[in-house]
Amino acid sequence: MVIKQWALSDFDIGRPLGKGKFGNVYLAREKEKGIVVALKILFKSQLVKSNVEHQLIREIEIQAHLSHPNILRMYNYFHDEKKIILILEYALGGELFKELQRKKRFDEPTSAKYIFQVSDALNYCHSKKVIHRDIKPENILIGSNGEVKIADFGWSVHAGKSRRETMCGTLDYLPPEMITRAKYDEAVDYWSVGVLCYEFLVGKPPFETKTKEDTYKRIRNISYVFPSFVSAGARDLIGKLLVRDPKQRINLVQVMEHHWVMSHVRREAIDRASQSSDPNENEEDQFEE
Ligand code: ATP
Ligand code: MG
Repeated sequence: MVIKQWALSDFDIGRPLGKGKFGNVYLAREKEKGIVVALKILFKSQLVKSNVEHQLIREIEIQAHLSHPNILRMYNYFHDEKKIILILEYALGGELFKELQRKKRFDEPTSAKYIFQVSDALNYCHSKKVIHRDIKPENILIGSNGEVKIADFGWSVHAGKSRRETMCGTLDYLPPEMITRAKYDEAVDYWSVGVLCYEFLVGKPPFETKTKEDTYKRIRNISYVFPSFVSAGARDLIGKLLVRDPKQRINLVQVMEHHWVMSHVRREAIDRASQSSDPNENEEDQFEE
């Protein structure tokens, strides 16, 4: 087996897709097969200066081993003297965060569909003993079929035998056990799914306040309110995820099977099936003369 050693000269570089803390992401086309990808180009000097090489290596190792329709694929990576280059799947729809800002908030069918996909992807990660720990709209991209793609595994960990105690992630999505620094496990991601679902439906996260201290306090007290337009089904799901004791939270399979999620996902599947039975689109029609 020949393992190809990639170089930047194997790609035609296109427009910039975004700016990261340690480098930029560009649209690119692999010259030989014409495959469109995103190249994340990171400068070694900046990584070393900020002392994040180890975090990046962990991110690379974890993401390169994950393959799921709702996780941004990392096809490969390579480096030269100055740069580390990640070859990533190109997410045509851009950032979910920007989409949420544009729309202010998502309707319930869209939110339920996204929550189902995120839960499916995280459940897959957990089966590989990977905890993401930094789920939020900024770290989710949108694929060519409008599906979500979890990106940014910078904070994720390979769960070992003992549960972790490090402090990380973004404040608004921190579960109580990470504030009090108790040990934690996969259930930190269950909490984040609850915060995410609230933010999709309301347009801002449930514990958001002006100061860090107040946000901490509200998380510790699990103090949040629903605007009147949030349905009973959505409230029920969020209420079963934003639970102090990690063991009492419903797990991701239960999220996917929750009646509010199921009702919307099932409806979408039915709509899709009836659309594809359009006689002009159905390929099977040619056998039915
Ligand atoms: P930060 O830590 O500030 O989020 P980062 O170093 O993690 O930055 P990314 O978030 O990975 O950088 O990338 C920066 C931006 O580039 C993203 O917010 C997104 O808009 C865009 N981007 C990154 N990867 C892709 C991709 N595969 N397809 C499309 N756009 C992408
Ligand atoms: Mg990012």
